[in-house]
Amino acid sequence: MSRFYIDEIKYVSTRDIEKKELISSAEAIRRGLAPDGGLYMPVSLPHFGIAELSMLSKLNYPERAAFVLRRYLTDYGEDELLSMAKAAYSADKFGPADKKGGANPTPLRRLSSRNTVMELWHGPTSAFKDMALQLMPRLLSAALEKTGAEGGACILVATSGDTGKAALEGYKDVDRTKIMVFYPAEGVSAVQKLQMITQEGENVCVAGVDGNFDDAQTGVKRIFRDPAVTKALEEKGLFFSSANSINWGRLAPQIVYYFSAYCDMASENIIKLGDEIDITVPTGNFGNIFAAYIAAESGLPIRKLICASNTNKVLTDFINDGVYDRRREFYTTISPSMDILISSNLERLLYSMSGPAETAEYMKALSEEGVYKISPKLHKAVQRRFAGHFADEDACRAAIKETYEKKHYLCDPHTAVAFACLEQYRRENPGETRKMLVVSTASPYKFAGSVFEAITGDMAKDELTAAAELSALTGTKPPKQLTGLESREVRFPGVISPDDMANEVIKFAGR
Ligand SMILES: *Cc1c(COP(=O)(O)O)cnc(C)c1O
Repeated sequence: MSRFYIDEIKYVSTRDIEKKELISSAEAIRRGLAPDGGLYMPVSLPHFGIAELSMLSKLNYPERAAFVLRRYLTDYGEDELLSMAKAAYSADKFGPADKKGGANPTPLRRLSSRNTVMELWHGPTSAFKDMALQLMPRLLSAALEKTGAEGGACILVATSGDTGKAALEGYKDVDRTKIMVFYPAEGVSAVQKLQMITQEGENVCVAGVDGNFDDAQTGVKRIFRDPAVTKALEEKGLFFSSANSINWGRLAPQIVYYFSAYCDMASENIIKLGDEIDITVPTGNFGNIFAAYIAAESGLPIRKLICASNTNKVLTDFINDGVYDRRREFYTTISPSMDILISSNLERLLYSMSGPAETAEYMKALSEEGVYKISPKLHKAVQRRFAGHFADEDACRAAIKETYEKKHYLCDPHTAVAFACLEQYRRENPGETRKMLVVSTASPYKFAGSVFEAITGDMAKDELTAAAELSALTGTKPPKQLTGLESREVRFPGVISPDDMANEVIKFAGR
């Protein structure tokens, strides 16, 4: 594999106008957020040509991960990355081994001649965040060694539902780490909540926050920059790090599956190597779709990225009008992991397309006024690559029902938002005939109540009954990790006000 030359890649904050501080990928992963409030980005991107794609096609998933990641995380060794990827994407975590002798954590389902689904939810928590969060703790552990850091990392997570559980599973009982998760008390599904409050592990803590996801995320960002909390942690030999998709260590593993899906589409003769594809991604914090953008900018033949939103359509409006305006009503939907008004990773796109000076201005306007308008030039660049669509609750339910009835494919509400948006895109762009990859981000059983109601039109008695009825109705089986939740011990029943988050962290650090 090493016949491909590797350029060293440094990382810089999206708000570092003079590029004063260039750091290694390990340092970026150790830090999470930059001290100036920006996010870390590679200064340059690697390029993958057809020769590399052809070679990648012959590898199994962990090998592909090591090969792709090595080009972004250039201070990690290929063998090191391979052993991490093998452990992270093992068959016992992600299901049976494939023909190439590794687990295939991202199987494709071909629904029609034009639409292929990539299922990203075969990991321990049945949502796509496992793809990143099974690998990221290993990247962080190694980063502590590489950067000579002393003490341990205290991971703080604000979650709209799926990240929290996936991070807890990824970090539980990992050496030199502690993890605390905040979730919006009324903003997650019953199953998501049960998964989190019953979490096992000695180094974990979970708290509900009286507010929505943005309250929780804003609270976490504030704590990161609160000198009093930092000092309290230092006294315990701890420093902050983040597992949210603001951390590059979370984003990088997500780039891999776009390469992998592309190679699989070629192997299955859906496309020929070199053909351009479009991708539809159900989007919240703009992490998953941004990873696809990075893959495209690194040479993967991707033309259009369809950004699919639910009723919280701040990104749809941004892509269509060039104005990001968070001053709007917040809706709780049946696709809760996309109920977000501040999509943090969008800052990385602004940086990539317009540079740090413009980005810093937009971010300042966002934090001071809650709104910014991008330049016409940037707006054009955004629209060249992205199409923005949204599906309201009725459209989402209709997509679940229709996909099941017409294609015999059971999808969760987040994936259904993608299907609904993809149909809109097709209606508005009848001339576009490229193959579409649709990203499926959660098991339908993780949101069994909503899925059951959408298909039958009946109210679900509760999530667990709905899962059983859904299984009987469709002849599909719930993933084993989602069964038996209700009989587990509740370890973290507490709900706190956003103002108490800092205190909770200090208490947890002292334990
Ligand atoms: C997190 C999540 C999303 C949104 O992904 P982003 O990277 O935040 O855009 C979509 N669907 C599900 C099921 C998720 O858990």
